[in-house]
Order: sequence, then structure tokens, then C-alpha cells
Amino acid sequence: MTTSTATLPQADRVETSLLTVADRCDSCGSQAYVRVEFPVGELSLCGHHFNKSEQRLRDLAVTVVDERYKLEPPSRKLDENASSVF
Ligand SMILES: [Zn+2]
Repeated sequence: MTTSTATLPQADRVETSLLTVADRCDSCGSQAYVRVEFPVGELSLCGHHFNKSEQRLRDLAVTVVDERYKLEPPSRKLDENASSVF
């Protein structure tokens, strides 16, 4: 096996699994909710664009940080319970 010491400078990168509002979809520029890390780089994608190619991205990805749960509006539950009496 050949061991290359001159690979991408990923070694001292801190692994963060949190996407922030500063992370933007590489396709459309909206807030990214999924980060897909490949052997040679990474993509940030909104839920919409990740959904579009999810299977292919997962096949190629090393890591997938999926935070689409944040897209679920918490108000939905409130709406369902709105009719129930406390
Ligand atoms: Zn997008």
C-alpha cells in the first residue's frame, strides 16, 4: 500500500457536525441542512437539493451530516393539539 503524506489538510480539522445559518446550499444558496463530505471535499445542501440526489450522494459520501429534522416546524404539533382541552 502506498501511504501519501501530502494529502488534503484534513487531519487537523476539527470535526463539527453542526450546521449553522452561515452554511449555505451549494446549489441554491438557501440555508444548508445537510453536509456531505467526500474524500476530496464537501458539499452543503438544503433539504430540497439533498433530497433530489440523496441516494447518489450517500453512495459517494464519506460522511453525511443530516440535520433536516430542523426543518420540521414545531408548530405542527401545537396545531394538532389545538383542539384538545388541557
Ligand atoms: Zn438548495
